Order: sequence, then structure tokens, then C-alpha cells
Amino acid sequence: MPARRYNCGCGKRRFRDERSALAAAETDQRTYGGIVAVYRCPGGLAWHLSAHGFTPGALRSIGRRLAYELAEHGRIDVAEFRGRVTGGDLRRSARVDRCAEQMTELGLTRRTDDGLVAADRPGLLRVVQIGLDAYARERG
Ligand SMILES: [Zn+2]
Repeated sequence: MPARRYNCGCGKRRFRDERSALAAAETDQRTYGGIVAVYRCPGGLAWHLSAHGFTPGALRSIGRRLAYELAEHGRIDVAEFRGRVTGGDLRRSARVDRCAEQMTELGLTRRTDDGLVAADRPGLLRVVQIGLDAYARERG
């Protein structure tokens, strides 16, 4: 796996950290109106701006995708999610289970008989923004 880097191939404006991305987002909002979201590049270390919010297809990591759907729908059936998102890939399937486990440990979700329920929506949206591993580090 290549090292994560600032110089990603997204073709979007890159910012070195969240603070500079937020400052640029504020300027854009003043200039163009609308809401500008900031998020950590799924493929690198840079931060980007999005005027369109997040779409599930653009979220390449399992953790972000899971967090997005939980924040949107409030609950998910893990088996259904796994089938839909992993295409039967065993490594990705294992990743779904690890993410579900980790989110529950972090208090982001609660387990039920048939799936996961969102317990901390702001936390889940933060995961969508920066990724699950970065969120876990941030929470220390
Ligand atoms: Zn990028």
C-alpha cells in the first residue's frame, strides 16, 4: 500500500490541515454562499472542500461508508450492509466487522439483535469527515 500523502490524485484543492481548510471554506461561503464542508481526503493526508456534501459512492473507506449510513438512517442491518458494500470480498467483509466493533467501543453505535443503531450522530458525522482510524486517534 502506498504511503498516505498530501499530494493526492483527487484534482481538488488541497489543504495541509483542518484549520486551513475551514478558513478557506469560510471564505468560499462568504463569496459564493451555500454550505461548504471540509473533509479529510479518503486517499491521502490532505483536506478538501465540498460544496455538495457527501455522497456514499465517494466514500471509499468502509468505516466512513458505515458511519454515513448510520448517520443518515439511524440503524443498519450489518449483514445487509456487508453484502451490498463488499461484493463478497473477504478482506472488506472482515473490515466491516472490525469497524462495527470499533464504533461500538467508541460509543458511536449500539448493537441490537439484527444490527447497529446510531448512538452518537455528531461523532458519526465526524467519522465521515476524517475516517474511523483518525477519529479513534482524535478521541485518544
Ligand atoms: Zn484527495
